[in-house]
Amino acid sequence: MKRARKRVLVTGGAGFLGSHLCERLLAEGEEVICLDNFFTGSRDNIRHLLPHPHFEVIRHDVTQPIQLEVDEIYNLACPASPVHYQHNPVQTVRTSVHGAINVLELAKRLGARIFQASTSEVYGDPAVHPQPESYRGNVNPIGVRACYDEGKRCAETLFFDYHRQDGVDIRVARIFNTYGPRMHPNDGRVVSNFIVQALQNEPITLYGDGRQTRSFCYVDDLIEGIILLMRAPGGVTGPVNIGNPSEFTIRELAEEVTRQTASRAGFVIRPLPQDDPMQRCPDISLARALLGWQPQVPLEAGLRRTIGYFAETLGLRMPEPAL
Ligand code: NAD
Ligand code: UDP
Repeated sequence: MKRARKRVLVTGGAGFLGSHLCERLLAEGEEVICLDNFFTGSRDNIRHLLPHPHFEVIRHDVTQPIQLEVDEIYNLACPASPVHYQHNPVQTVRTSVHGAINVLELAKRLGARIFQASTSEVYGDPAVHPQPESYRGNVNPIGVRACYDEGKRCAETLFFDYHRQDGVDIRVARIFNTYGPRMHPNDGRVVSNFIVQALQNEPITLYGDGRQTRSFCYVDDLIEGIILLMRAPGGVTGPVNIGNPSEFTIRELAEEVTRQTASRAGFVIRPLPQDDPMQRCPDISLARALLGWQPQVPLEAGLRRTIGYFAETLGLRMPEPAL
């Protein structure tokens, strides 16, 4: 029997990106099942959605097989910050690889379209800059980041093999650094670290000399991009880069956070983590051509909203920016 509204499974739905995705899908009238083991996600991220009549939460580990009846699947379950994914690297690989097999088996049985949250980390420490989807990457397969990078690369392999072998309708996005409200304040990622440090008037921790670059995408832009990819006409598989092509050094990010929070605590230099990529910037020509998508929120405005969120969550005063 055809359902009046689509029933959508979001794995990792209680995480940073997953909670925004659940919210957006519910706002569009879909029925949403959020599946999460709450490793890095939290009930707080989805508390406001719990009373919604079309929202359901299932505590489940994606490394275990899943039996549900759904029309579409978004697979986001995986810790995303280096601190969290290196905490138990074997479990990180298992989450990406066994998790992918379990959701793909479900998609195959149901004939459901399935989205994979892949990552710019598949490019490793890139020798090609900016990175187009055709670039095959420069990943250290035995390094401390490999559990995440290689796990995600293997998940992409599985998605494309299920597509070729079993005709599964796949959509793969390579997501670049994304930030915004509901980032975990202690997950060690650069935007949350810098904002929390500056709001508490502690020095900002610059790893290395801060000359490494990243390109930061505001969460609303990211969600728009992945929904457009999921809804693109049949035949589109990706991988498609979804990220903001405005590139900043980590020092520039620290300076902007300092300005907006009027922090006087300055910076401290800390060692650069092993295998930390020196540069990262998406080539989004494909997303522009295929989806008509490009980010709308500049870093300055996105940071302002994110600082407001952290100030409220931590019970701190929203600062007046320094001029
Ligand atoms: P997050 O850590 O906030 O969310 C991940 C969610 O997955 C959490 O709710 C966590 O509890 C859940 N999870 C982890 N392991 C699980 C398991 N075995 N079974 C069930 N649930 C599990 O991270 P995020 O930033 O929201 O990232 C979401 C997805 O997007 C991840 O797959 C990540 O790799 C990908 N991604 C994110 C970024 C980014 O900048 N945020 C960049 C590239 C890719
Ligand atoms: N970084 C930093 N200080 C911090 C946290 C991170 O200088 O307190 C740097 C980190 O070394 C990296 C960049 O910021 O070069 C982005 O780090 P993050 O962990 O957010 O994401 P990823 O390295 O996975 O892109």
